[in-house]
Amino acid sequence: MTVDRVTPGCQFSSDNTAPMSPEAWAALEQANRDSVSSYGDDRWTDRACDLIRQMFECPAEVFFVFNGTAANSLALAAMCQSYHAILCHEVAHVETDECGAPEFFSNGTKLLLLSGAAGKLQPDGITHAVERRRDIHYPKPRVVSVTQATELSTVYAADELAAVGETCRRHGLRLHMDGARFANAVAALGVRPRQITWDVGVDVLCLGGTKNGMGVGEAVVFFNKPLADEFAYRCKQAGQLASKMRYLSAPWVGLLENGGWLTNAMRANAAAARLERGFREISGVEVLGNRQANAVFARLADGIAAALRAKGWRFYNFIGSGGCRFMCSWATTDAAVDTLLADARAADTAGN
Ligand SMILES: *Cc1c(COP(=O)(O)O)cnc(C)c1O
Repeated sequence: MTVDRVTPGCQFSSDNTAPMSPEAWAALEQANRDSVSSYGDDRWTDRACDLIRQMFECPAEVFFVFNGTAANSLALAAMCQSYHAILCHEVAHVETDECGAPEFFSNGTKLLLLSGAAGKLQPDGITHAVERRRDIHYPKPRVVSVTQATELSTVYAADELAAVGETCRRHGLRLHMDGARFANAVAALGVRPRQITWDVGVDVLCLGGTKNGMGVGEAVVFFNKPLADEFAYRCKQAGQLASKMRYLSAPWVGLLENGGWLTNAMRANAAAARLERGFREISGVEVLGNRQANAVFARLADGIAAALRAKGWRFYNFIGSGGCRFMCSWATTDAAVDTLLADARAADTAGN
């Protein structure tokens, strides 16, 4: 499938610029052929839940919602009371890109921000945040939220997550994972999904579908099943219960049935690796950080960034990295990467 319906230059601004991947589209088309019951009482939704349970090799409770902000906010709200605190990284999407939704849906639970190299929380940082204050005047830490893959395109290794999970258990904290790019993390690490989730103590995972090749939709996966109690009501109240649920769930069947979710993530990561290799050979470009997933962060000489933008390339200056972010998706072609690199090289040689 080609991506000529996407403005080529837009591709690097977000993995959301990509169209639906063919398997997801085909399943949606199949689901459009018959009439079924509403609100999730249908075979597509049953099958999607089963495939997610198979993916994780465990009997999880699964819910489908429209987007990641809802998935994270509602999952976090289900994990704590309003007087609790959620520990997360200072660049976490729940803090920087959800317009206060986690606080809103939890009726005021406070996010406490921690720093940490490479966008990752450290066990020591968590312990420090818990032990710093224990009095009645301070919101009580109850949940740790990690992002996998992180906002800085790194991934937590299984043993790093195990250390975070162990720290959580020691302090009576629950562990939430924002997995908007979970597939990219699995692809980068070459692990079984269970090894970086419930094996290491993750209670709830927000599993990303949109950036992985769907049109719309994320799944909230409760490994800790009692936390899913009444979660359906929370979804409904928040406007996140799809009446024609099959249109949210069928694309999951398409992505999961033949491993398309992993192939898509591997393609996105490979495109980023190709871009990173090319950037490293250009003197006016400095690759930042330690990329493992599908985004490349780089500091570009001013003239190079301007020249690329003048040619129509789109990418963000990314707060928190000090550079530009080039995001790749399942649909990013080698040709797009190579053309971007050629334009950057030309601008570099021109002395920009
Ligand atoms: C994209 C993304 C989300 C989901 O964002 P929505 O726009 O609400 O779907 C969540 N977390 C991270 C880390 C993301 O990159």
